[in-house]
Amino acid sequence: MSRGGLPNFDSFGSCRLRSAPSDDGIAESPLLLRVVGCHGGETPKHRTSAFLLDDRLAIDAGSLTSGLDLPLQYKLEAVLVSHAHLDHIRDLATIADNRAHHGCKPLIVAGTVATLDVLKRHFFNGLVWPDFTAIPSKKEPTIRYKILKPELRVEVAGFGVRAIAVSHTIDTSAFIVDKNGASVAYSGDTGPTVRLWEVLREERDLRALLMEVSFPNEEQRVATLSGHHTPQTLLPELKKFAKPQDLPTLLYHIKPAFQAKVETQCARLKGVNLTVLRLEDQLLL
Ligand SMILES: [Zn+2]
Ligand SMILES: [Zn+2]
Repeated sequence: MSRGGLPNFDSFGSCRLRSAPSDDGIAESPLLLRVVGCHGGETPKHRTSAFLLDDRLAIDAGSLTSGLDLPLQYKLEAVLVSHAHLDHIRDLATIADNRAHHGCKPLIVAGTVATLDVLKRHFFNGLVWPDFTAIPSKKEPTIRYKILKPELRVEVAGFGVRAIAVSHTIDTSAFIVDKNGASVAYSGDTGPTVRLWEVLREERDLRALLMEVSFPNEEQRVATLSGHHTPQTLLPELKKFAKPQDLPTLLYHIKPAFQAKVETQCARLKGVNLTVLRLEDQLLL
């Protein structure tokens, strides 16, 4: 993906689908990123985190039913769950229900042991919501859990997937998803962290980083306490990557109340390559 110039975050215009150029070594079959939800809160104009890759693999489930029509809900093969906070898991409940009625294949719900344990004990626990690993039957269930061991690459829905631990208030993973040698990274909810950058620096063909930023600089105290970034912590963080200006960095998880302020402050950051993601964006990476 190429993106020129700061700070005009609206330069994608109304059609934000970009064709990857074919003459600069970019793989023939790029990854299609569909933004379903990209905010750190919800209003009728903001949806919580959920992204699709090639319409097969979801990263987080904050808005998989509020933001997707049924055919796309049915088409999904797997969901990577970065952590168990409600804004990232909530629509697992409703997508399981919808898929159960349609008789879909089991939806793989992949995450670390700690994340899946919270889902089993506190979400799909037969009280808050039914245990869809046993509906309609244990043999052919609506959802199936898949444990991701830290930094171990496994195949999920035809992609290579690695979970990298990041720094939040509960067990949280970043993800690196690869296909045909190209990869895309997703930060998960995190404040300043170390290991993710070490791993990303080793990537040979990293197409983009979906990166969280939640609060404006004035809210640094709450951002630090809650394990999130402000623009002023984002900049030194991105500079841990060798050439941040060459890494398309797609910002998400801005809190709706602070949307304009965070965007203004991010637009002032120099030496980085930032785009604020919007609902319904479709990007070829
Ligand atoms: Zn969180
Ligand atoms: Zn969150």
